[in-house]
Amino acid sequence: MTYALAPTSRIGILGGGQLGRMLALSAARLGLDVVIFDPEPDCPASRVAAQTITAAYDDLDAVAQFAASVDAVTYEFENVPAETAAAAAQHAPLRPGAKALDVAQDRVTEKTFLNDHGAPTVAFRAVSTLEELHTAISELGLPAILKTRRFGYDGKGQAVIREMADAEDAFTAMKGQPAILEAFADFTMELSIVAARGLDGAVEAYPLSENRHSDGILRESFAPAGVSAALTDQAFKMVCSVLKALDYVGVMGMELFALKDGSLLVNEIAPRVHNTGHWTQDACTVCQFEQHIRAVAGWPLGDPIPYASAQMINLIGHDADGWESWLRSRKAVLHLYGKRETREGRKMGHVNVLGPL
Ligand code: AMP
Repeated sequence: MTYALAPTSRIGILGGGQLGRMLALSAARLGLDVVIFDPEPDCPASRVAAQTITAAYDDLDAVAQFAASVDAVTYEFENVPAETAAAAAQHAPLRPGAKALDVAQDRVTEKTFLNDHGAPTVAFRAVSTLEELHTAISELGLPAILKTRRFGYDGKGQAVIREMADAEDAFTAMKGQPAILEAFADFTMELSIVAARGLDGAVEAYPLSENRHSDGILRESFAPAGVSAALTDQAFKMVCSVLKALDYVGVMGMELFALKDGSLLVNEIAPRVHNTGHWTQDACTVCQFEQHIRAVAGWPLGDPIPYASAQMINLIGHDADGWESWLRSRKAVLHLYGKRETREGRKMGHVNVLGPL
């Protein structure tokens, strides 16, 4: 491990939300110092980090200075602008690399890449005009989902089209942004696999979790998911193939649809630690946050085997007002992100409720 960073090295993280905060907490336990780069001075990660640099992501001089002051740079969100990533990569190793961002930022590029690397997705068409949308609908059938190609998250920028008459409204909702029409996946379950690839190319994956969403936001994950060894194996092969093709270093979340016939489709990949991996904090010896830091530092990956089952419950908006009652629940571990303002739909914290395996 000639490239491994020494403890007391500095890791830079682009983005200081809850994921940056939990990465910083894991890094601190391992004797590493974290420097957060975020436009917001009071962001959740800033309050647990060794240092915070407050600047806009397009302030490339500030990005260069930040990267020059650390031993490796990573990120907690997939929409890091390409120029920001390139400016950072000139001064420190960027892990995962720019290719992962490029692929994950555009749903058409992402699905094309996944299909080319053994990870099948729903059928899709790129759509820029209403005429292209009509053609895409006649090719893919209905129902279908129209999404913006870029900058969609937590179900934002999406419209379900059930009949041809819905097409125009759905197209208008995209506000002129390039879009993608996706065939509707008739899934029985939503799953995800959170896996890591080390600097040496080793891959470790946590057991799959089953995920429940409402209004496009993840509410709960159950892990390990009650799925067959064959399904787990299928997911593992897909994530390995994608990690390798991206020459990836770090943790990736891969969201999956399980279909009636026992096959899996990939919904999307997130080139970062993932909300559906939060259960690993309390059910595994090495959680996804430590795993990511280990990979970024060039350290050996940890054991992804769980010692408990877990139900992860997101505390969204005023859900977090019930924090005290969670403290009284014996099998629950409470995580709060230190966000000062509660807003509807905002992720404020989560709880891991542990049980026997
Ligand atoms: P996304 O923002 O693409 O992760 O989508 C958010 C949620 O919408 C997913 O977790 C699914 O529940 C649902 N969804 C997204 N795409 C599809 C699809 N092609 N077919 C069926 N449901 C979908």
